[in-house]
Amino acid sequence: MRTIGLIGGMSWESSAQYYRIINEGVRRRLGGAHSARSLMLSVDFSEIERLQHAGDWTRLTAQMIEAAQQLERGGADFFVICTNTMHRMADAVAASVSMPLLHIADPTAEKIAAAGFRRVGLLGTAFTMEQPFYKSRLRELFGLDVLVPDDADRRRVHNIIYKELVAGVVSPVSRDVYREIIARLIDRGAEAIILGCTEIMLLVGAEDSAVPLFDTTRLHAEAAVDRALAV
Ligand code: GLU
Repeated sequence: MRTIGLIGGMSWESSAQYYRIINEGVRRRLGGAHSARSLMLSVDFSEIERLQHAGDWTRLTAQMIEAAQQLERGGADFFVICTNTMHRMADAVAASVSMPLLHIADPTAEKIAAAGFRRVGLLGTAFTMEQPFYKSRLRELFGLDVLVPDDADRRRVHNIIYKELVAGVVSPVSRDVYREIIARLIDRGAEAIILGCTEIMLLVGAEDSAVPLFDTTRLHAEAAVDRALAV
């Protein structure tokens, strides 16, 4: 079994889900008392969030590179970054180590393409919904047509992530807000919805959408199990 390196803590609410899904996946595949070999470097999200909102991506990139290098020194065979947003600097981080990065967008997009969907709605932080790094990968590598909510809805989605979900607050009122935003994306033609922020799965599930949801947390964690156990 390969050792999975995880850059986590962004936020720990979602990293805890990665840890659970990865260990459940290994137990399901190998049985008995088997569990995943993994190393997690979990950062203090308060500092990360401050730098994100200040637009200091240079400092954030340096921190992610340092984290990846620490995981590699610790013996990880490959690594995952447990947040969509912090894939903004994925290329630079991947280039700083010799172990491979399992990019969060790839297993999600592969599953969407395999299901035959092309037009997808994307929910995530404003950084993920507005900057090109994530949408362009979905378009260029997987041919997906990506829709994002309008300005006001993007603000709502973003604020619920940063003010509630990363702090472990799961509110029925916010669930209704997300439901309405998902419905508006479907009205505009979305055939599927990407939960493109690793905390959104704490708030919404299949019952909140009339089209299939693709949860990046679960799909990324399950892809990590596949890679760890691949022969
Ligand atoms: N976990 C979130 C994501 O998947 C947001 C927190 C962060 O900015 O890293 O984008």
